[in-house]
Amino acid sequence: MEVYNTIARRKQVFQPKESGKVGIYVCGPTTYNYIHLGNARPLVFFDTVRRYLEYKGYDVTYIQNFTDMDDKIIERAAEEGVEPLALSRKYIEEYYNDAGSLNVRVANRHPKVSEHIPEIIAMVEQLVQNGTAYVVDGNVYFEVRKFAGYGKLSGRNPDEMKAGARVDVDARKKDPLDFALWKSAKPGEPSWDSPWGPGRPGWHIECSAMSLKYLGTNFDIHGGGFDLVFPHHENEIAQSEAATGEPFVRYWLHNGFITVNEEKMSKSLGNFFLVREILRNYPPELIRFFLLSTHYRSPLAFDDEKISAAGRGLERIKNSVRLLLEALAKPAGEESAVMDDIFCNNLDSLKDSFEAAMDDDFNTALAIGVIFDLAREVNTAVQRLGPTLSPSDHGALLRAKELFKVLNDVMGFFKVDSNTGELLLDGELDRSQGLAERLIDLIIEIRQEARKNKNWVFADRIRDGLKELGIILEDTPQGVRWKKDSTI
Ligand SMILES: [Zn+2]
Repeated sequence: MEVYNTIARRKQVFQPKESGKVGIYVCGPTTYNYIHLGNARPLVFFDTVRRYLEYKGYDVTYIQNFTDMDDKIIERAAEEGVEPLALSRKYIEEYYNDAGSLNVRVANRHPKVSEHIPEIIAMVEQLVQNGTAYVVDGNVYFEVRKFAGYGKLSGRNPDEMKAGARVDVDARKKDPLDFALWKSAKPGEPSWDSPWGPGRPGWHIECSAMSLKYLGTNFDIHGGGFDLVFPHHENEIAQSEAATGEPFVRYWLHNGFITVNEEKMSKSLGNFFLVREILRNYPPELIRFFLLSTHYRSPLAFDDEKISAAGRGLERIKNSVRLLLEALAKPAGEESAVMDDIFCNNLDSLKDSFEAAMDDDFNTALAIGVIFDLAREVNTAVQRLGPTLSPSDHGALLRAKELFKVLNDVMGFFKVDSNTGELLLDGELDRSQGLAERLIDLIIEIRQEARKNKNWVFADRIRDGLKELGIILEDTPQGVRWKKDSTI
């Protein structure tokens, strides 16, 4: 498998730090508004990366943060007359609704800045102690000149950056390129105590502190939009490597922008691009399909025509699955295989083609092309069937159905009925049901942590409480499964 590594400026063979395991950190949203389509692209893409790596058998640890304290949040909270962290809590909840609609799975952890202040302070202290950061009036700055590798991700040269930089009015910094690790509190702003007085973290340090806490140094994949390459990710590298003395990240993956046909959408500009606004006009599986229909590194133009074209493509896949289900419902007939080995061989080679596409820097556009090929293959085969279905044809169709499901598990277009395992082609799963399922998954995760800490009483209480609500937990070698109690 090869991935395009931004820092190497080329595709490289993917080799995780630890065989069979992959750690991924993706920069998540700043929680002062609902997520927009620009936020949704990395969410959907990196969720697909996670799904594909799991398909390949990797044990994936997926971390995506929430920036729940920041200038924009403080500003918006003041406008609305609420506490900044209360505003963040509201938009974090809304994040789960919107991301869930797009079938983006909940990460293994969603760390928040406000809950990692001790880790952040410890890291800043370390940088002050080793001389790469300095303190001025309760602020702490990272001294860019002390880190020799500065610019290696973005390809910028610090000397040129300085020459080209606008005059920086902040006289407290030694150099205009230096950036804040810790900001002293302004009157009325939320703050935490620190060795440098009350204040709050700068933006960049949170992602270093949280990714290192959950994934360790030299972790596998760090993702985000291209707009984060500089300064955010460049600064993350500088402060992380200056603190640990080790390489920070093995592979940097960045997705391209969403461009917009402003002429068509000028009236509702701003609002329309919120995911929840778009979902009033289009089904969620179409938005996900659309986002994956272009390779992640290319820009993606969002307009009604492009969405309609994507909708026609998605309909072809749905129709083929429907034809397949209809054929499978035919009465059983005599053994006379219409679909010979060629059909089954074709299924195998389609699976290989799908993997080849995804192994080539997650080329989801090509992978979707392979799903179209599968649809064509199925349509042709189904047309040749008679009024009854022979046992071997039944077997061949089941294999095709299984392949649709396996590929859909990676791409995540259609949600899956948790009881029957069938694809929900028309988004039959409504939002409230989706929320209930995610809540149950979350409760199971909490119980697993309790068990890990040998807190058996608490773990049993969760199991019994769920049972009272009609949710049965089963411990299997593959992990905890749940089902609805059919007797209730
Ligand atoms: Zn980040």
